[in-house]
Amino acid sequence: MIDNKFDDLQIANILSSVKTIALVGASNNWKRPSNFVMKYLQRKGYKIVPVNPKEAGKEINNELCYASLKDIPINIDMVDVFRKSDECLELAKETIKINAKVFWMQIGIFNSDANELILKNNLECIFNRCPKIEHSRIFGDLGSGGFYSKLISSKKNKLKSSGKSSGNFFKSNNLETLSIHAGTAPDPITGARSFPIYQSTAFAFDDSEHAASLFNLQENGNIYGRLSNPTTSALEQKIAALDNAVGSCCVSSGHAAQLVALYPLLNPGKKIVASSKLYGGSITQFTKTFKSFGWETDLVDITNYEEVKHAIKSKNVRALFAESLSNPEGVVSDITQLSEIAHNEGIPLIIDNTMATQAMCQPGNYGADIIIYSTTKFLSGHGNAMGGCVVDTGKFDWANNRGFEKLNEPDTSYHGIKFYETFGNLAYINFCHACALRDLGTTMSPFNAYLTLTGIETLNLRMQKHMSNAEKVANFLIKHNKVDTVSWSGFQNNKSYKLAKKYFKFGFGSVFTFSVKSGYDGAKKVVENCSLFSHLANVGDTKSLIIHPASTTHRQLSSEQREISGAGDSVIRVSIGIEHSDDIIKDLKTTLDNL
Ligand SMILES: *Cc1c(COP(=O)(O)O)cnc(C)c1O
Repeated sequence: MIDNKFDDLQIANILSSVKTIALVGASNNWKRPSNFVMKYLQRKGYKIVPVNPKEAGKEINNELCYASLKDIPINIDMVDVFRKSDECLELAKETIKINAKVFWMQIGIFNSDANELILKNNLECIFNRCPKIEHSRIFGDLGSGGFYSKLISSKKNKLKSSGKSSGNFFKSNNLETLSIHAGTAPDPITGARSFPIYQSTAFAFDDSEHAASLFNLQENGNIYGRLSNPTTSALEQKIAALDNAVGSCCVSSGHAAQLVALYPLLNPGKKIVASSKLYGGSITQFTKTFKSFGWETDLVDITNYEEVKHAIKSKNVRALFAESLSNPEGVVSDITQLSEIAHNEGIPLIIDNTMATQAMCQPGNYGADIIIYSTTKFLSGHGNAMGGCVVDTGKFDWANNRGFEKLNEPDTSYHGIKFYETFGNLAYINFCHACALRDLGTTMSPFNAYLTLTGIETLNLRMQKHMSNAEKVANFLIKHNKVDTVSWSGFQNNKSYKLAKKYFKFGFGSVFTFSVKSGYDGAKKVVENCSLFSHLANVGDTKSLIIHPASTTHRQLSSEQREISGAGDSVIRVSIGIEHSDDIIKDLKTTLDNL
């Protein structure tokens, strides 16, 4: 793939300073991407001059078309190219002659000679990008589909494309700052500093042209609450920012995230290979319910790389799936290794990062392509909002790997557009919104998005406290005479210790299991007799939680599956909260002493 790492600020400045754009390769077929781009940019107030020798003298979208750049009678600020890469050098020369300031090559187009020539002449050169996508990403109306720009602002109305950009952008790569600011600038109308809950099912169109372009995917924006909502989009941007990703798609639960994440990749008869150490509910979802869709799952020991390699050799496999830190046992995946193994076979690596969160680990930095979350857990953090999220790092090449039909073949529900051709590295996340959410209907409620936005602001602080409390509790448990084993990965003799050290920022996880010497009955008694710990089926709450998986969350698994996934009879799962650690330990000690 062509490397196209441009600074968002550079792109923002280009799009806010140019006024006239020559569109070379403009098509009069409204279904072609060049026509989409033209219409969109016209709506945003740019003067677009179409250039195409075959259409010269005719009008495209109400603008007279010219045969070549030199024929255009007005000043052109930017040349946007929809031609083959090998035609770009000539076009670059003409661009210099007509005194344009920017030479822009569309997605999939690059010519290094043209690039060099343009830069040598002190003009700006952008390639393998689309101005329509960049515009909606950076200046998008509220709720423009959760595509993340790295620019944050605490000023009302600063992200404007008309006129020179104000320079009031702030750039940060620090998670503490991003978790508070990314995606949640002040409300442009009211200035409300806490991001509002847009409790509305539908959104009014400007006119029928606007409505049509929204339905055609020519423009991002809100149509109907099943597909997008401004509050949810703000959360999508925040989560994408925390993963240093291009965009995300929020959904109604973690399970919905798994459904939506796999839907763009699979058809009946296709397969995923997944770790056998997954959240119990995920194993049931994959091996029973997804199986009934014709989506197969092979479960493997994710720490046995030969087994993983062998399993993904089958040509029907479309993804490798693992948890960064497994629930409940705390097994750590070697993300770098797994991503190399997956990429060698032309499939993406999907990491469920629910237990670690971005505060501990950004799987995209180690080669994961798609990251999913149950936001129900640490992201919302207070046990008050169900939710899930699919995050796209934008790095996987959907065109040149194992067949990803839904992203490469004409989509009949959108007048035959091809997602990858039209949206480039936003194809996957666009498909999640435009097709998966539209048809699967697993939408997050705006109120839950709001609660999760609030929760994420304190993610870093909470995770540090969860981790330090967990360390104290694990060290207490391992020394108690009624306790047999403790799965916490912070013990040096734990199989995951080294990987946890490598991948996690400040700790070893606060959800883990311990087993008691007195077996099934003893484990049940501990759970029932605790008084600070809440006995319930959740993790990642501020409150300390406890459960006996064998009789609850993992009940639906066979006893063999239970052993494999670390939920045997005498095993208790805890999620250590952020109360005072003395109190958490006191509750466990009283209960264990009385066994
Ligand atoms: C809870 C959980 C899920 C499922 O999320 P829900 O929000 O409960 O649907 C998936 N993966 C992991 C690791 C989880 O802990």
